[in-house]
Amino acid sequence: MTDPDPTRGKRREREAQTQVLSRGFDPRLSVGSARPAVFRSSTYVFSSPEAAERAFATALGKRTPEPGEEVELIYSRISHPNAEILEAQVVPLEQGAAAAAAFNSGMAAISTLLLTYCRPGAGIVHTVPVYGGTHHLLYELLVPWGVNPVAVPAGDGDALARAIRETTNLSLVLIETPANPTLRMTDLRAAVSAAQERTPAPIVAVDNTFLGPVFQHPLELGVNVCLYSATKYLAGFSDMLGGIITARDPELLTPVRGTRAFLGNILQPDECWLLDSRLPTVNLRMNRQSKNAQRIAERLAGHPRVARVHYPSLFEEPDQQRIFAAQCDYPGGIFSLELVGGKAAAFDFLRNLRITKNAVSLGGMESLACHPATTTHSEMDPEQLASAGVNDALVRVSVGIEDWRDLLEDYEHALDAI
Ligand SMILES: *Cc1c(COP(=O)(O)O)cnc(C)c1O
Repeated sequence: MTDPDPTRGKRREREAQTQVLSRGFDPRLSVGSARPAVFRSSTYVFSSPEAAERAFATALGKRTPEPGEEVELIYSRISHPNAEILEAQVVPLEQGAAAAAAFNSGMAAISTLLLTYCRPGAGIVHTVPVYGGTHHLLYELLVPWGVNPVAVPAGDGDALARAIRETTNLSLVLIETPANPTLRMTDLRAAVSAAQERTPAPIVAVDNTFLGPVFQHPLELGVNVCLYSATKYLAGFSDMLGGIITARDPELLTPVRGTRAFLGNILQPDECWLLDSRLPTVNLRMNRQSKNAQRIAERLAGHPRVARVHYPSLFEEPDQQRIFAAQCDYPGGIFSLELVGGKAAAFDFLRNLRITKNAVSLGGMESLACHPATTTHSEMDPEQLASAGVNDALVRVSVGIEDWRDLLEDYEHALDAI
């Protein structure tokens, strides 16, 4: 498929960088302050009893607001000004998005989407490996409630299309691409076209935490919603938890906001303000992190202590190269090293790092490294680990914004010390 307007992506990117600083915020509503105020109020004063009646009728879906009508706020568990500003400013960052919703963690975003759209008896097709918390949610919480998850290995397009065709009562397809920690990619266009062959078509959701919103644009490929752990690149400083859902169709988020109001997992005003202030630099940070990671990963690929580097620009399988070229702008800030010498070598490597810290999580300005088999992926059994490509020799690195030459030296020194 050729893009009818090849400049469109670039134009969207330009608009995004500008709009993220201006959209959704009216200084007059914050006594003229250039940055939004923080509205720390649990409840909101109505201008009249009629306005209160209209606000409740709107919140309960009994009426739709007139064009241009300002619906008054009710109570902060439902929504509040800082969430509304944040949600308005996330939208231009996600190409193809028309709406966004904020949550108090990435898991809150994922749980709320799944609890809204997966009823007892529903099928969910998902790629493996998925984030550990998501795996738990599916198998510990949703299976006992009668939801039926079907796992498909990341990158196996035929198996994914088959599962999408054959799973009974399929309500949702949940794809994590690239997969963690091997960065195996799943073809989103193919998943969307398999989903669209079904009636009713299931919702296709992508956990876009690793490459979005800067380098991968699932909504432009027909995906319905993107999920984010905003804790990672969106917030970018390893100092807060947050979650975001973006959607092409705003109506899809209306019942999700309803579930959020029951669960009370909206992001709080202070955190919304903090996350909002990080959005204008997401593009700068991710570009620097991706450049750093690519320079380092490609140099480490030749090191005698490194058996293999998992990184998109180093993919060897033609199908993986094809997916990367078709759906990602840049390879991103995360690579995994498979070391010569197994677990002992991996632990030695982590022990000898001087700049990079041994911690889970990713996407922050500072570089972090961890041993997935004994930490983030330790609840998987040996068979699951093997099928996910997670072995004892693997170390995952999230590259920060330090000078790449210092980081390369850090890794070469730690490799030499094994
Ligand atoms: C961290 C992460 C999550 C969970 O997000 P939290 O903000 O920790 O709740 C989900 N998916 C991916 C890919 C993640 O990296």
